[in-house]
Order: sequence, then C-alpha cells, then structure tokens
Amino acid sequence: MVSRVIPVDPFDLVIFGGTGDLARRKILPGLYRRFSSGQMPETAQIIAAARSEMDDAGYRQMISDAIDEFGGDMDKSQVSAFLAKLSYVCVDAKGTSGWNDLVSKMRDGVVRAFYFSVAPSLFGDLAERLHSHGIASADSRIVVEKPFGRDLATAKELNGVLAKHFNEDQIYRIDHYLGKETVQNLMAVRFGNMLFEPLWNAQYIDHIQITVAETVGVGGRGSYYDKSGAMRDMVQNHLMQLLCLIAMEPPAKFDPDAVRDEKLKVIRALDPVQPHHIVRGQYSGSDDQQGYRDHVESPRSRTESYVAMKTHISNWRWAGTPFYLRTGKRLRARTSEIAVVFKETPHSIFGPEAGSHRNALVIRLQPDEGITMDVTIKEPGPGGMRLIDVPLDMTFAEALGPDVEDVPDAYERLIMDVIRGNQTLFMRGDEVEAAWAWTDPIINGWEARNDVPKPYDSGSAGPDDALMLMHRDGRKWREVR
Ligand code: NAP
Repeated sequence: MVSRVIPVDPFDLVIFGGTGDLARRKILPGLYRRFSSGQMPETAQIIAAARSEMDDAGYRQMISDAIDEFGGDMDKSQVSAFLAKLSYVCVDAKGTSGWNDLVSKMRDGVVRAFYFSVAPSLFGDLAERLHSHGIASADSRIVVEKPFGRDLATAKELNGVLAKHFNEDQIYRIDHYLGKETVQNLMAVRFGNMLFEPLWNAQYIDHIQITVAETVGVGGRGSYYDKSGAMRDMVQNHLMQLLCLIAMEPPAKFDPDAVRDEKLKVIRALDPVQPHHIVRGQYSGSDDQQGYRDHVESPRSRTESYVAMKTHISNWRWAGTPFYLRTGKRLRARTSEIAVVFKETPHSIFGPEAGSHRNALVIRLQPDEGITMDVTIKEPGPGGMRLIDVPLDMTFAEALGPDVEDVPDAYERLIMDVIRGNQTLFMRGDEVEAAWAWTDPIINGWEARNDVPKPYDSGSAGPDDALMLMHRDGRKWREVR
C-alpha cells in the first residue's frame, strides 16, 4: 500500500519559540519529514522567531542537529534543501524589537500560520502584536499548545485573550493525541463499518478502559509537572479526547464542527466523579532509583503522577456502562490503549465449566499501533468443549505493509491540517472549557481534603487501590505490558 501525498498550498509558517525544546524535537523534524515526502510546496517558507541572538546560518545549524537527533532516517541533500526554507528573526513577544523584521518577511497571497510554541503567558502578547503590526489577516491561523489553562477560569481567560484578535475558526488548539493514526482509525472503525456500531452501547458493552502508561518519570520537567499533575497534564486533554471519540454519537458529516459538537455533548454528559471512584498515586523511590519527590522541588509534594478513575456518561447510549481511565508515569510498560470489553453471552450452552468469556476490542495507540479483537473459540484438541480467548490481531505495520512507516506522525499531520485549514483534529474553545468544568471539582476536592497520593513502586502497574477500583466491581484492568 502506498500512502498518497497531496501537497498543501504555499504557506508562510512562523514558529514563535522556534529555538525551544518542542520546536527542535517535534515541530521542525516533523516539517522536514513532510518536506521530504513531497507534501510541502516549493515556495513554502518557515520563519523561526525567539529572543536569542542568532542569524539564519546559526538557526539552520541548530535545526540540522535537531533533525539529526530526532528526525529518523534522513537524506543529506533533502536536509539541505529543507534548511534553505528556514530563516530566523530575533523577536521579543513582550517588546518591540524584531517585529518589523518579521513584517518584511511575510508574503501576500500565501497561507499565513503562526505557531505559538511558547509559554501560554505569552499568547496574549503575541496575538496583540500580530494584530497591531498588521501581520495576521482574517484568514491567518494560530496554533496553540497545551497546557490550555490550568482550570476553567484560566482556560476562559486564554480563550478571551485569543478571541480579541482571532475568530474561533482561526484558532488551532493542539492535542497531539488527536493526530495519531490509530486515533483517527477509531473513527474509521466505528463509522466506516456496519459491524460495530449496532453493538456500541450499554446493552452490549460491559465497560471501557482507557490506559495511557508511561515508563518515564517526570525527569527534567519536575518543576513544571509538579504544578500540574496527571489529572491536568493527561486526563483533562488526552484521555478526555480518547473518551470522546469512543463514546460520541456518529456525526452527520466528517467535518470539524459536526465532530466537535458530538465530542462536546459527551463531555457535558459526563457524571461528576465520586471521590471513592478515583485513586491518585505518586511513584516512590528505591535504593537504585529516585522517586517522584526527588525529581521536584518540594520533598512533601502531593502532586499525583498517577490517576485512575471510574466515570459514567449519562445518556441513552451509555447509561450504566462504566468508563475506567488510568494514566501514570514510571509504570511497568509504555502502552496506550482503549479496550472496549463486551458483556458475556446471556446464557452459556457450554455450562459453568466453560468459564466466563468476554469479547474485547482493543485499540492500541502504542506500541505497535493496531487493533485486536479477542474472540472466544474452542481450545483445539480432544477432551470436550473447553473455551479460550484468542486475539484476532491487526498490527497496522504488518497489515498495511512497509509504506505505513511513511505515515506522518501526529505533529506533522496536525501542522499540515493547519495549512489546509482543517480543524477536525483540534480542540474547540468550548470543548476545552467543558473538559475543565468536569476536571475542576475533582482537583478542588483533592485540595480541600488535603488528599495525599498513594505511593506506588516504579515499574509496577500503579497503586493497589487502583486495582481494587475495578476488583470491587468484579472486573480487572488489562495488564500493563
Ligand atoms: P522551551 O524549550 O522553554 O522554549 C520556549 C521558547 O520560547 C524558546 O524558543 C524561547 O526562546 C522562546 N521565548 C521565551 N520567551 C520569549 C519571548 N519573550 N519572546 C519570544 N520568544 C520567547 O519550551 P518548549 O518545551 O519548547 O514548550 C513550548 C510550549 O509548548 C509550551 O507552552 C509548552 O507547555 C508546550 N509543550 C511542550 C512540549 C514539549 O515536549 N516540550 C509538549 C507539549 C506542549 P528565547 O529564550 O530565545 O526567547
């Protein structure tokens, strides 16, 4: 299978924070890969902007090194052709310096996009200056990164700051989980097949579990992470988005507002989470490994590096079906998956000795992106009817052949969507606010109760209480492996 590459329109892309970690690790290497795949037109121009003094040659060297380190396979002549598209301007988001240089670089008649790869506290300054220098036109786009606020009030404030100069259809709030191939496949599987949708409801589905497990700790991001925690850093955005795609009603069309309207309805239908349906954890240290509190400034930090919870969606489709979510750092394996676990058959013709069996549709985001369907079959061989569950496994890399490796990664795809003007995979302002409105009472409750996260061993599956959360319901988490 050969992946089709459709070039985008000519564009000027300005990356504020072009010297930062995200730009060097993700944005520029991703843009290089889109260039080498042929998706970027000849006339595309990429302008990096930050305060550091640097000339074009210095910036190109910086990005050449970044592509070397983070860009995967590369072709030297392609890299130098890509670097020729880059230039650098020294701009202070909060000051006056550099803005006229930026103005002089912008061209008419091409798509203008501005990537705010800087701290959210600078969003307002950038929006203001783009406007006052006449750089942003009515069809310009801005891309903003997470975290989009740290609660409902700050998210509203950020939305307000951006709305002063940009319409909602110009604002692209990135959640890179939405750019993952498998996440989009979730929509293809649900809405492109007749097979699943009739069963996709509380009548047939016992429960859904969403897991995003990381092996890394907070490492060098300790001081940032300690002010955030797993709930703000992962649940409010990434897990919530996965939940929406699994639970939403079929939109009438695959267009941005139709999809986002349905996602918003899911978030608004989420029940508040009961305190006893949520478990927070924090990884502890051992003789040879540092714990969470060694990575952050406060030795008494009560920030969670793990959270597991049970929630419900109060609507006709899902009433009674629990959704279990969990995410954490320093866990046994790096794995992200959504498991849709079906109910048992209403009656077993094979008798009680056949045991209990449930089909599960598992959508794996990482590693080995793909989809598995657990099906119950007869254990081969003589000796009566014994049943076992076996996976029907579709690993995309195997099913689709070597060209699947050319599929763009999340950032690449999303940046190309910005240029195309397609907002389907970006969060709308009201979605983000609704997600905070659901998350805030949980976090406020912890603060009011001085809740202390449960310790868990690095390399484990999380705190024991999280296992109990499902055991109490007669269910169990899938292995983190
Ligand atoms: P970073 O490494 O600290 O980079 C910040 C960038 O902003 C630098 O290029 C810095 O360059 C520039 N900058 C700072 N103050 C400025 C000013 N007054 N005017 C113009 N430029 C200024 O941060 P990052 O990790 O790349 O993150 C950028 C944004 O992406 C943040 O909002 C972060 O939360 C978000 N994000 C990052 C990641 C990640 O993996 N890194 C993941 C998700 C989201 P100068 O100092 O030279 O000005």
